[in-house]
Formats: sequence, structure tokens, C-alpha cells
Amino acid sequence: MLTGGCLCGQVRYAATGVPFHETACHCGQCRRATGAPFAAWFTVKRAELRWLGAAPQRFVSSVRAERGFCPQCGSSLTYEGRAHPDDIDLAMASLDAPDALAVKDHIYVADKLPWVRLADGVPQYPGERAAG
Ligand SMILES: [Zn+2]
Ligand SMILES: [Zn+2]
Repeated sequence: MLTGGCLCGQVRYAATGVPFHETACHCGQCRRATGAPFAAWFTVKRAELRWLGAAPQRFVSSVRAERGFCPQCGSSLTYEGRAHPDDIDLAMASLDAPDALAVKDHIYVADKLPWVRLADGVPQYPGERAAG
């Protein structure tokens, strides 16, 4: 069971099942949405995620996706891609134990800020993750 939530605690979640696609995204939209140089995400099946109390507010951030955030404190919490309606991405840094997971690759590295030096040895993709 993975639990987490926003900074103020109004939005909380519990995810069962096995997380997958642990990734750090360096795209400009994740940068803007999180206010951070890049965003670490993990994915769970939507059916395996429960919101405890308030659900996040959602924002259509592009033709491809909606992003969720706490309506009170603004913490970035979710990414829901239209291409994968059964999946939901959660902000790894919102976990109560954020060291429970680690990113397995970096995506959109072509958009990475030049002063970010990646030394974790996991694969880097210029855009989206390679299929499979
Ligand atoms: Zn909050
Ligand atoms: Zn991104």
C-alpha cells in the first residue's frame, strides 16, 4: 500500500497494487505544473487508487492530459493521459515515504535544464519512453 497526499493534507490517497512506469519527466509542462526542474511520477491502475477525503481538482493541461492538484494548497498530484484511461500517474514526491520508489528512467531529456546532471545510471529518452 502506497499512501501520500498534498502539502496541506486535504487531499490524501492510498494506492494498492504494483506501481509501474516510475519516471522523471523533464518536459516543460511538468516543469511549469510542479514549479520544479523536473517531475518524478509513478503509475497505478485507476481502479487501485482511492482518494481519502477530498479528490484533487483537475485541469485540462493539454489535448493529451489532465493534471490534478490540491484546490487548497496547490500541490501537484496527478497526471492523467487520455491515451491511457485506465492508468493514473501520481507525483512520487507526494508519497508519505518518497524513498519507497525510485525512477527507472528519464523522459523528455531533450527538454532538460542544462544544469541538471543525471548520474543515476538509468535510461534516458529524448522524448517519450520507448515502447514496451
Ligand atoms: Zn493541499
Ligand atoms: Zn512531463
